Amino acid sequence: MIVYNTLTRKKQELKTVNDGEVRMYSCGPTVYSQAHMGNMRAYLFMDTLRRAVKFNGYKLLGVMNITDVGHLTSDADEGEDKMQTAAKKTGKSPWEIAEHFTELFLKDTARLNIERPEIVAKATEHIDDMLSFVETLVDKGYGYETSDGVYFDISRFPSYGKLSGNTKLDENIAGARVDVNSEKRNPADFAIWKKAPKEHIMQWDSPWGRSYPGWHIECSTMARKYLGDTFDIHTGGVDHIPIHHENEIAQSEALLDKQAVNYWMHVEFMQVDGRKMSKSLGNTYTLDQLEEKGYSPMDFRYFCLNTHYRKKLNFTFEGMDSAKTAYSRLLALLRACKTADTKADESVIENFRKEFTDAINDDLNIPLGMGAVWTLLKNPPSKDIYDAVIWADSVLGLSLDKCDEEVKEDIPSEVKEIAERRWQARLAKDWATSDALRTEIASLGYSVKDAKDGYTLSKN
Ligand code: AMP
Ligand code: ZN
Repeated sequence: MIVYNTLTRKKQELKTVNDGEVRMYSCGPTVYSQAHMGNMRAYLFMDTLRRAVKFNGYKLLGVMNITDVGHLTSDADEGEDKMQTAAKKTGKSPWEIAEHFTELFLKDTARLNIERPEIVAKATEHIDDMLSFVETLVDKGYGYETSDGVYFDISRFPSYGKLSGNTKLDENIAGARVDVNSEKRNPADFAIWKKAPKEHIMQWDSPWGRSYPGWHIECSTMARKYLGDTFDIHTGGVDHIPIHHENEIAQSEALLDKQAVNYWMHVEFMQVDGRKMSKSLGNTYTLDQLEEKGYSPMDFRYFCLNTHYRKKLNFTFEGMDSAKTAYSRLLALLRACKTADTKADESVIENFRKEFTDAINDDLNIPLGMGAVWTLLKNPPSKDIYDAVIWADSVLGLSLDKCDEEVKEDIPSEVKEIAERRWQARLAKDWATSDALRTEIASLGYSVKDAKDGYTLSKN
């Protein structure tokens, strides 16, 4: 497999620490609210990478963390713990908030066919491991105490900034102004342990009094605990490159005196109108909201798979409509193949398998792999085409083997029949009839949206 490594800024052949096994860590959610579809793009990337690894015959040990303490409102350790803020707003305890959103996250990811990594590790269940990590850093002279916590001294780690290529740290690091915390030795020093004010509900005993872990130390600690000192792949979104992952590298390598992660892989943003989909910009959608609008989790999965993970993906409802139409066409074509008793030319199948494998193994080029699937489906329907596409679906994860299950929808047949008549009218360029039928559909409480080669119906 060839993968793009953020650390070397190159595509490289994946060479694993242990023969035949991939060990991989993925930054997981901070469970203070429901994950949005931008977050889901990141976990879909993790999932397809996991699937591609297994597709290539590797054994896989994957770890994902659940951040249920310590992630402050700014990634650069300013502000309040996000769990604490959410607790204050809702009147619930941070523990209740964490439990609720962890469950919701696992449910939503399962609906998107995102396989659960072998180990899902909660930060609050690893406090002792983190404490001893921090104590070792302090013993080695990398950590120092201030009035509000223990900080990592980046001047002791000369290669700080190597992942992002960010050498002008003092100017560039967000939130790292000297006046914010005058006790820091260097503006980009970051908290590895935080002293807890009385009102901070999640707190533990430590050599520095009642306190809680910093967000970055959680990932370094849990990755090492389950995957060993040096492991193969670390994933996350591109927003984590300059601070969170830079800090993880500093902590882990300061502790180990050697490289901790061989391949860093980052997924680009899902955007809305040219800006990152994010909670703070108020431009997010959740899976439930998409379903209310008539899109299934697989429609969204298909939508994401159509863009390479290192390209920005603009979220639009037109895009979702096209994805929905394409996905249902894909299912229809497969249904026809599944029941066909013909056979395709052997070379057609062989070429497809090679093309698909090459695409996946060239830095996870799933859009190219999808293209190969569509080309294959241009052939007359046959059972071996069905089998070949199901084989590819072990990477795509689109539930294609369920193509002949009744598509679950609550649209009355009367509405569907009118929509079908309207589509025919459109094809005949009879715009007056088409408009009249659209009004009729609307009067029944549904709306119809046209895409290139079909339409979708949804409840208003
Ligand atoms: P957070 O809970 O904020 O730490 O985010 C969880 C994961 O989602 C991280 O890997 C982020 O990099 C990623 N992420 C957040 N917003 C987006 C977005 N708009 N597009 C893609 N990934 C995102
Ligand atoms: Zn992390």
